[in-house]
Amino acid sequence: MSLSEITGRMAKAAANAGRSVDDLKLIAVSKVQPNERVAAVLDEGHRTFGENKVQEAAGKWPAFRETYGDINLHLIGPLQTNKARQAMQLAQAIHTLDRPKLATTLARLSDELGSCPDLFIQVNTGEEPQKSGVLPAEADAFVAEVRALDLPLVGLMCIPPVNEEPSLHFALLAKIAERNGLAGLSMGMSGDFERAIALGATHIRVGSAIFGERDYG
Ligand SMILES: *Cc1c(COP(=O)(O)O)cnc(C)c1O
Repeated sequence: MSLSEITGRMAKAAANAGRSVDDLKLIAVSKVQPNERVAAVLDEGHRTFGENKVQEAAGKWPAFRETYGDINLHLIGPLQTNKARQAMQLAQAIHTLDRPKLATTLARLSDELGSCPDLFIQVNTGEEPQKSGVLPAEADAFVAEVRALDLPLVGLMCIPPVNEEPSLHFALLAKIAERNGLAGLSMGMSGDFERAIALGATHIRVGSAIFGERDYG
């Protein structure tokens, strides 16, 4: 599939939901993809990308920025506190704020660096033990905690369980965001971004549908 097919499908999904496509950000998830594929999407003019790992992002994006100018980089993978400084210097948004210790670390570094990326709290909507994120029942309290630290919290993020209907998880995330007055909803991937748009996604994270399958081999 191509970038223009994805943006076409986004426009259709937005229209069906009575929403403006201008309220949607497409994050092209470039993790693990060969640089040629990433460069091809940059050549098409796209400038918003997502990476899972700080190390991998640090290895590729400074060079792409040299060539292509400003890039909006979103970190969407679990973040260790010892990588937080590097993450903040690289990225415009972090989607995986998931625990108090990370929040206090980001607040300290934010004072020191004088800026902080936009933050999304990851919510473990499926309450899966192996998955990061705060539990839905703990989300309101964590939102309050993050706000008390004066961090730039913009929204919530989720990754639904693989074998469940994602719409239930998207609806739950939207409900938690709404009652907390949060406008940002990072939800929807290659297989379900249209359903996420129908339920209010503002940031969709699409990898393989743009770049092709990831080769971890
Ligand atoms: C890899 C990844 C994506 C993209 O997944 P695709 O199915 O390739 O679109 C989105 N979000 C997160 C958190 C990811 O790790």
